[in-house]
Amino acid sequence: MEFYQQFANSTKLWGKDCKFERIGVVMKLIILAAPGAGKGTQAELLSKHFNIPTISTGAILRKNISDGPRLGEIAGKYINDGKFVPDEVMIEVVSDRLSKDDCKNGFILDGFPRNIAQAEALDKSDIEIDVVLTIEVADETIIERLGGRLECKNCGSTYHKVHRIPKVEGVCDNCGGNLVTRADDKPETVKERLNTYHSQTEPLKKYYEEKGMLKIAYGKENISDTANEVLKVLGE
Ligand code: AMP
Repeated sequence: MEFYQQFANSTKLWGKDCKFERIGVVMKLIILAAPGAGKGTQAELLSKHFNIPTISTGAILRKNISDGPRLGEIAGKYINDGKFVPDEVMIEVVSDRLSKDDCKNGFILDGFPRNIAQAEALDKSDIEIDVVLTIEVADETIIERLGGRLECKNCGSTYHKVHRIPKVEGVCDNCGGNLVTRADDKPETVKERLNTYHSQTEPLKKYYEEKGMLKIAYGKENISDTANEVLKVLGE
């Protein structure tokens, strides 16, 4: 926990040559990575550092499912099978969320775009993106990690039975909510999600590389080493 606090409060970690100023920066960042690569955790850390919100499309959809309105009904049947929610639904969800006041000074998009059609829709909108960060992690590591992942039902913070243990078993450090295993973290669904990632989302790396926007970080065994790698990559 101490590390996260230090990360959230420190400017030193960014180094002298970092092109981003922590205070007053408008940072519009996409994090692109396979499910379970740690993008949610890294997004959370960067969000504290830059003081900008993380917009996690998966979290928005899951909240809608548990709250039960129209979007929840549509999204639930796709998510539980490890399939993508249709593009037109996602584009509406993201445009609506990014138009809110708290996104004016930037945001971290976690989970969108997820295919070329969504990236093209984003390009056509008036939303400008500064950097696309990828976090590379091998499939075998992901399968092992997702088997132990826990998520807060209330605030969406993520934990792991081995790598990021909550202070009190089954209870969220942030808000005291219940920690649960996500329905789509079952091994057969994880494989399906990884296949979908490789076939549909991974081509986005080339798409953004050609636009000169891509920064690649290699995921490490633990969260703090990955965070340092992310900082290095962003501070080039
Ligand atoms: P995540 O929490 O990012 O792993 O997302 C969980 C699930 O939500 C995914 O497996 C998809 O079913 C759905 N989802 C989230 N973001 C998108 C998106 N941009 N496009 C389509 N489906 C999405």
